[in-house]
Amino acid sequence: MSDTNNKPAVGIDLGTTYSVIAHVNDNGRPVTIPNAEGDLLTPSVVLFDGDDVIVGREAIKARATELENVADCPKRQIGNQVYDKVFGDRRYPPEALQGWILNKLKSDATRVAGQFNQAVITVPAYFDEVRRKATQDSGFIGGLEVLDIINEPTAAAVAYGYHAGWINIAGKVDQPLNVLVYDLGGGTFDVTVMEVSKDNFRTIATDGDMRLGGQDWDQRLIDHISENFKSNHGIDPRQDDTALGKLLRDCKEAKETLSTRSRTQVECTCGSSSFKSEVTREEFEEMTLDLLDRTDFTVRQTLKSANMQWADIDKVVLVGGSTRMPAVQEMLRSLSGQVPDNSLSPDEAVAHGAALRSAMLLHKSSSAFRPAEIKNVNSHSLGVVANEVETGIRKVVPLIPRNTPLPVVSRRVFKTHRKNQESILVQIVEGESVDPEDCSQLGRCAIWDLPETLEIGTKIEVRFAYEENGRLKIKVKIGGDTNKAFRYEIQRPNSLTEEQLSSWREYICGPEA
Ligand code: ADP
Ligand code: MG
Repeated sequence: MSDTNNKPAVGIDLGTTYSVIAHVNDNGRPVTIPNAEGDLLTPSVVLFDGDDVIVGREAIKARATELENVADCPKRQIGNQVYDKVFGDRRYPPEALQGWILNKLKSDATRVAGQFNQAVITVPAYFDEVRRKATQDSGFIGGLEVLDIINEPTAAAVAYGYHAGWINIAGKVDQPLNVLVYDLGGGTFDVTVMEVSKDNFRTIATDGDMRLGGQDWDQRLIDHISENFKSNHGIDPRQDDTALGKLLRDCKEAKETLSTRSRTQVECTCGSSSFKSEVTREEFEEMTLDLLDRTDFTVRQTLKSANMQWADIDKVVLVGGSTRMPAVQEMLRSLSGQVPDNSLSPDEAVAHGAALRSAMLLHKSSSAFRPAEIKNVNSHSLGVVANEVETGIRKVVPLIPRNTPLPVVSRRVFKTHRKNQESILVQIVEGESVDPEDCSQLGRCAIWDLPETLEIGTKIEVRFAYEENGRLKIKVKIGGDTNKAFRYEIQRPNSLTEEQLSSWREYICGPEA
């Protein structure tokens, strides 16, 4: 290759249930790097074993016997200050737990990709600003320099573009294509409409359900088997930790079996009693129909937000392990009138897209890739909280509506209420409600050390800017004399400070990181 810059181009799909790391190999192809155990998928699970911290397969195994030491799917709690479980008297921020996962992926991958620090990490499109920042911070803690944060569906579309031959130099796409990415993973659901052309990946609309995924399908099966057991033996196996641990594992397995076979059996053991139930695919699909309907609803909503009809969609791309369920493909076929594309590996597509993005950023001079542009939208409306003049009730004043193309800037002018006012606090939220309590709290824009001589009603302009990756930056300007110095920052109640980040990084990666 004429590429002189041979830094490893690495991408990471930091998934809720499984994480995947990939790189672009010497032939310019994205490939998944197996972990030290030889698996392509690393369970996003952390085990505290005395002084050792173990990530992945062994941590999953420990779920059945020492659940109290296992941090399951920390991504579900990212954005919170601390993970809700205590391990050995200690509480951990979700960023640190993800830091361990990322650090394992990184060190395992160096055996194949060589030494590297830089990587692109993906996030769900619906992740709010707080969670995007927390993901970047997790990368830092895990010993990485985060090159970019891109949305999972965008990464999937990039991988799709690569496989379809669009983003290598020989690729030909004359017309932009509209692609709908349907991503049903283990814990989350995401749908995105994108316009893909030879040098541009533009998100048009995105929506999702943070609390819907394969685990909910597992739970239905667990409930079904448990009810069967109860009516035969009079006890509920869900009340027994050992029985439940085994049911969790067996029902997930049974569900996956039902994607290829039309029937399967699940054996439930609780105390000294055992009971075997047979489940058919038809029964399973019936007991989970409402879950599928929820995804159907979100797909329709997203299409509507994109201002499109099915006839406008050229491709439906499937991502996420749960799209292997035949019912998902069937539903999309009847909804869209076309056969969904499953040419991508649903588990690896996101990591491959991230690795390709990494190559585009690192190997700019390379002839292998077109410099494709990635255009996102914000997935939540941005607003500030203000008191309504007539009633005094606190309400959200929307500044940037959701699905606005990024980057975007919105300015708002605040006025000082008192003479010599020294500071201003502006509460920033993301969400679709006018009630601040129903929105996600991004933080407070704090402006202090205002010049002493400000008159009442002095205009203070705050500029809110979403960058391409969905991160928020602010700038503040005071009307009149702008030469005076003052300080401002976004105070984030749920974020780690710089010192905390460094100390976690050292704790997890060692002093040389
Ligand atoms: P995430 O993005 O949340 O990490 P993945 O995309 O890796 O998740 O998907 C994991 C989910 O996919 C799990 O719930 C798993 O049970 C499910 N899954 C994997 N293979 C199959 C299959 N053959 N049939 C049904 N579900 C499957
Ligand atoms: Mg995923």
